[in-house]
Amino acid sequence: MLKALIDQQPFTTIHHTKEELLKLRKSSPHFLCPHCSAPLILKVGHIKIPHFAHAANKPCPYQSRNETPMHVWSKALLFKRLTQLYEDVELEYYLKNIRQIPDLFINLKGERIAIEVQCSTIPVSEVKFRTEGYRKERIHPLWILTQPVSRSIPLKLTTFQQAFLRFSPDLNYFLLHFEPEKKSFTIFPNLTPVSSNLFLHSKQIVIPLNEITLPISISPPGTNDSNLLKNWWGYRQKWIYNKVNYNSLRDNSFLKEVYEEGDTIIYLPLFIGLPVIPHMGIVKNHPVEWQYYLFKDVMKKYRSFTKEMMDNAMTRRMAKGDIEMRDFPLSNGETGMQSIISDYLALLEKVGVVSSGEGKTYTLSNGWNCPGRMTEFEQHEHDFFSKWKHILKKD
Ligand SMILES: [Zn+2]
Repeated sequence: MLKALIDQQPFTTIHHTKEELLKLRKSSPHFLCPHCSAPLILKVGHIKIPHFAHAANKPCPYQSRNETPMHVWSKALLFKRLTQLYEDVELEYYLKNIRQIPDLFINLKGERIAIEVQCSTIPVSEVKFRTEGYRKERIHPLWILTQPVSRSIPLKLTTFQQAFLRFSPDLNYFLLHFEPEKKSFTIFPNLTPVSSNLFLHSKQIVIPLNEITLPISISPPGTNDSNLLKNWWGYRQKWIYNKVNYNSLRDNSFLKEVYEEGDTIIYLPLFIGLPVIPHMGIVKNHPVEWQYYLFKDVMKKYRSFTKEMMDNAMTRRMAKGDIEMRDFPLSNGETGMQSIISDYLALLEKVGVVSSGEGKTYTLSNGWNCPGRMTEFEQHEHDFFSKWKHILKKD
């Protein structure tokens, strides 16, 4: 931790040089923990920036936090920047009602913000718990992920890192990431999954630490990014081939269903596995899977159908465990579950697969037909892409 009490007065290590701190330590003052009043030791070493540690292992609301050198460093950098901007910034502030200690706490003209810097992997349930605690107190939580993310293309995110995704109408699903060594924030906008852990995204937005303000204001990249889906079909194909190559009919229920239904997975029509922007990220399964289930359960079965029937089919598949949702604890409940089906139906209508009729019903335009042979599939590809290109341009 970076804060202690000396003679009842709060003291932080951040505004002092190592020499000053060593001198202070020699004068042997009593450093006390602001949270449990136990004695603290001032540590001035080579790895972590100067900080305090409890002298003995005593129960303390602060103790459970596992602070890596990078965590302490990130916190110190953010504190320095925010105290330049705002008067009322507290470090490691104890919120009595909820017994939580955000890394930074800011009072901005009555609007309170709790900043959590997250470097180590903790259970997603813990992220959820702390977020709910802040919301209960009408405190706006701002989580900042600082653990390294692999900068591959597409972006590879662990399940823990995916829990940091948030949604905004300007950025769609995005990740806010801070790199203390570069002293800059990066926002990855328009995150669009192509598998369970790989995400396409629009051009990243970099904000240097010394330009950051709260709330973070940026000029949004716009959702009109046709480059985003440039390789969509390649990734879709790759997912299908991986499925065929690395899974067997016996232990993969999806493959089994396709097979038993008499369809050929490598020739599934291209309107199964459409990129449904922007809410697709909430479904963990690949779009080929959940869209095939909807086809099988509703579109293929009934001549005409409603959105409600699709919603119900989705719910049933979720209850069965065939379709899984991603957990976004930081999104304020606006998960877009409802709109994902209507967005999918709108896309199907645009490519001419369904047509909408009276009473909010939809009908499959040409019936259901999975190509059975290479030549048929190639013809289908040719017909489909001529329509799809048009849609990408129009949007
Ligand atoms: Zn303590």
